[in-house]
Parts: sequence; structure tokens; C-alpha cells
Amino acid sequence: MKNTHILIAGAGPVGLVAALVLARAGVQVTVVEAAAQLNFDLRASTFHPPTLDMLARYGLTDTLVAQGLVARYTQQRDRHEGVIAEFDMQLLTGDTDHPFRLQCEQWKLTQQIKAQLDTMPHVAFHFLARVESVTQDGERVRAALTIDGAPHEIEADYLIGADGAWSAVRRSMGIEFEGYTYPERFLVISTDFEFADHLPRLSYVNYCSDPEEWCVLLRVPTLWRVLFPTQAGESDEECLSDTSVERRLQKLLPQPQSYRTVHRTLYKVHQRVAQQFRRGRVFLAGDSAHINNPLGGMGMNGGVHDAMNLTSKLLGVLQRGESESVLDRYERQRRTIAIEYINASTARNKREIEERDPVERRKTQDALRATAADPAQSRAYLRKTSMLDALARAEAIA
Ligand SMILES: Cc1cc2nc3c(=O)[nH]c(=O)nc-3n(C[C@H](O)[C@H](O)[C@H](O)COP(=O)(O)OP(=O)(O)OC[C@H]3O[C@@H](n4cnc5c(N)ncnc54)[C@H](O)[C@@H]3O)c2cc1C
Repeated sequence: MKNTHILIAGAGPVGLVAALVLARAGVQVTVVEAAAQLNFDLRASTFHPPTLDMLARYGLTDTLVAQGLVARYTQQRDRHEGVIAEFDMQLLTGDTDHPFRLQCEQWKLTQQIKAQLDTMPHVAFHFLARVESVTQDGERVRAALTIDGAPHEIEADYLIGADGAWSAVRRSMGIEFEGYTYPERFLVISTDFEFADHLPRLSYVNYCSDPEEWCVLLRVPTLWRVLFPTQAGESDEECLSDTSVERRLQKLLPQPQSYRTVHRTLYKVHQRVAQQFRRGRVFLAGDSAHINNPLGGMGMNGGVHDAMNLTSKLLGVLQRGESESVLDRYERQRRTIAIEYINASTARNKREIEERDPVERRKTQDALRATAADPAQSRAYLRKTSMLDALARAEAIA
């Protein structure tokens, strides 16, 4: 197998964005993906404004917008009281070319990138190719892989481990994944039931707090996705059963007929950040470097921001003769953001949405109402929640 300049482990959104940026700059890229094809699961479904700005440079945003839903408003709700605060993303006009959240399935991004990569002769793609371990010296990095069941080795100048939460690259490097796992799991149900016909003023993005069972209602083009936490003691079978899914949806919005569901996904949720994002010629990006709960939609977005940051530094070294020391700035910038913004905000979002103390709940809701009532405060809030502030903070890190 031909040696490459840059080897990318994982063909999720982060690996593919990195591959595209590098390949468009003329760098030879090999992408190895353990699965037989790109993933079509309903995972991330929110693109934040700065992510859309970045993807627009590669001609990806217009197609995503055409395939998704433009969410001008986001809402914080109380499951019993209704809308607590509504934020108008148009307040970000001037901060971004895309002052909205785009509700669009992440597989529409990976499909689109793959189609571009397929036209480039200097990009090699291998499915059913699993990285098992990684070694390196001062000159090269070597990945031991299993491809279609047979052992292989690929050498490259650099390796980007974009191989997700269970990253073999991270484990092979012995890099700690520091943090914790929540005791409850998250259940995501998708349904073609039209909640907007029954819940007044529903937007496409709704965070609904409740001391007993909070939920998030997110619209994608053809479905509503409803996210619930599981309760202590509930088994996987119980959570996914027709009875319990129906009970949860009926409690959210009682209906004479039963709900028709399209997907049911139950998953463990973690708040973890890798101790290092760079080890010599090996880098971690996306879920391999940081994972968090989905409240705020920062996982995939933060990963795309990693990919953009890292590839611009690699291109600096490969094509503009910059010193390899710029690569350490990738870790300083993106690890700080993973800890201070992505992990901190998603953990806070979870604490607030599930708060049981009525005094604290009232305080949070009053603060949200006051913020939403004031355009300057709303803009500041939206800059934070849409990750614009995180990118500005990263730029300020030397
Ligand atoms: C149910 C669910 C809902 C989510 N909702 C949201 C949301 O609303 N908003 C948001 O921003 N994020 C959300 N996320 C998180 C988001 O999906 C991830 O942050 C995003 O997919 C990370 O992209 P990635 O490319 O880093 O990793 P992944 O998408 O996990 O891609 C990693 C790829 O690497 C491959 N791979 C794994 N091991 C190897 C190996 N050893 N060798 C080669 N290839 C390998 C995998 O097969 C996979 O294709 C959600 C996640 C889940 C599970």
C-alpha cells in the first residue's frame, strides 16, 4: 500500500473534514475506516453558525442548508409552563455569515465530503480497515491495521486519530481520557408525529427543563427527535420497550392514538477530555479527544473546529515552512476549549435542565427571561451557546 503524507483514522465528520481540507491543499491523504461504509445513524443534528462559516469555505454549507432546516430561534422551556425564553439568532448578524442553527443530520455532511474526496486521485479510502496500534519515531508514524481481516501497516508523516470515543489511536498512545460517565443513559426517540401542531410556539430547538424528567425536542427535516434521561434502575430493555417509549411520549404530550417511532437509541454519556491532543506525529481530534453530553450540540461542532484548527497548522508546516512547534498550539488551543467551553457548558446545561431545587430553578429561569428580554445580553448568550466565543478564546491562546 502506497505511503501517504497524512493518515486519518476514522471517516466520521471530523476525519472527513480534516481529509478534505488537506486534500484540497494537495496533500496526499489516506483515510482508514473500521466500518464497511459511512455511518448513517441519527447522531448530531445541529450545525452552529461558525461551523457553517468554516464549511462554507469548502462549498459544503449551501448543500447542507438545502438539505436541512434553518432554525432562527432556540427556546428554553419548562415542561409545564411552556416557553421561558426564546433567542433570536439573527442577533448574530455581523458575528457570522450564518446567523442561525442548521438542523441537519450529520451523515449529510459526511456523504457530501466523501463525494468530493472520491474525485481526488491523491486520496485513498479503505473501509473495513481498523487501526490496531500506532508507533512512531522522529521521522514517521506507523499504524498497524487489520484490513478485511488481514494485517497491514501504513506509514505516514502524520496521523490524525479521528476514530471516535473508543479511539484505538488514543489507547495505543496510552493517553488518559480524563473525566466521568453519567450514571443515567440518554434515550433518543425519533417520530414523525408533528409536535408543532400541538405545542404552541414550538421552535426547531427546544430545551425543556423539568425536575422529574427533562427533555429536548429537536426538529430534523422529516422527524422530531426527543431526548430523555433514563431513570435509576431502568434496564435497557425497559427503556427501549414500546410501553416505556409510549409512556414517555404520552406524558410529554397526551394523544388519543399511540406514537409511531422511527428510531430508538439508548447511549451512555460521558464528560471526558484526553490528557494530550498531540503526541509527536500523532494527533487526536473530535470524539477521540473529547466527549460530552449532547445538551448544546457541541460534540460534532467542536470536533469540526478541531479538524479546521489542526489542518491549518499541518499545512503551515508542510507547505509554508512553519516550525513544527506550531503543532503544540493545536493542543493548547483546542484542549483548553474542550475543557473550559465544551465540557463546562454542556455539564452546566445538564445541571440546569434537571435542577430539582425550586429556588435554583426559579433563579435560572428568571435569569434566562432577563437575558432574552435584552438584545445585548441575548447576543452575548448566543455568542457563547453557538461557540463563537470559544473560537475567539482559542485565537487568543498563544
Ligand atoms: C445518539 C447521539 C446523538 C448525538 N447528538 C449530537 C448532537 O445533537 N450534536 C452534536 O454536536 N453532537 C452529537 N453527538 C456527538 C456526535 O455524533 C459526535 O461528536 C461526532 O460524531 C464526532 O465525530 P468524530 O468524527 O470525532 O467521531 P465519530 O463520528 O464517532 O467517527 C469515528 C469513526 O471512526 C471509526 N473508527 C473507530 N475505531 C476505528 C479504528 N480503530 N480504526 C479505524 N476507524 C475507526 C468509526 O467507525 C467511525 O466511523 C451525538 C452522538 C450520539 C451517539
